[in-house]
Amino acid sequence: MTNLDPNSTPAEGMQASAPPVARRSLLMLGLGLFAGCMTAGCVTGGPKSARLPGPIWPDQSLLTAKPEILTPAPLAPLPPTPTLIGVIPRSSWTKATPDAGNIDPMLPVKWITVHHDGMSPFTATDFDSCAGRIELIRNGHRGKGWADIGYHFVIDRSGRVWEGRDMRYQGAHVKDQNEGNLGILCVGNFDQQTPSMAQLAALDRHLRTCMMKYKVKSPHVLSHQEWASAHTACPGRNLQSKMDGIRRAVA
Ligand SMILES: [Zn+2]
Repeated sequence: MTNLDPNSTPAEGMQASAPPVARRSLLMLGLGLFAGCMTAGCVTGGPKSARLPGPIWPDQSLLTAKPEILTPAPLAPLPPTPTLIGVIPRSSWTKATPDAGNIDPMLPVKWITVHHDGMSPFTATDFDSCAGRIELIRNGHRGKGWADIGYHFVIDRSGRVWEGRDMRYQGAHVKDQNEGNLGILCVGNFDQQTPSMAQLAALDRHLRTCMMKYKVKSPHVLSHQEWASAHTACPGRNLQSKMDGIRRAVA
């Protein structure tokens, strides 16, 4: 409360108008009395209490006033995970946010899983078409009742890496095996087309980045179909045939 505060008490108003030296003396006296009351001697009535004022306190309101209870400010929400260097932020392809009530926090990353989208063959490389493809996938996953796009990263045919589901959240991309499992999608259908060289090079680079960042060894880099729980052809035979080479390259 400041001296200009319209709610200030008369006592505070009087103190405000006192000469500086007198005011300081009052303040020192007040501090001394309060400091004294923090000691055991004051509480138990030891010798020091004999020097304290009698039962009529100069300003009883100072003793009876209830301390102001400060309500702590609510915690700020967690800041977004910093986007990895070279990764196109999610905000460039969608304004949608995950269904926060239906999503688990990410556990420490122990696995990385590679996917294709398995839809119709996709050959576009321009930014807008790729952004549209990712949004289409997100909509498909939302339509299944999932909280968001299931994968954490998406790699297009020109070698761009896009942010998918925020890494703060567990993905949804391998049946019963999503805990600590980072999902990378390569757009396209690799049963019907081959991944581009730029896409494979970006996959290699991004795997290395994620393996280093999350301390994942190459035996823990799997394709979707390499999970026993998954009965799928993902990531398609033309990417699956590259998986051993990819693991050797990034080991
Ligand atoms: Zn898959």
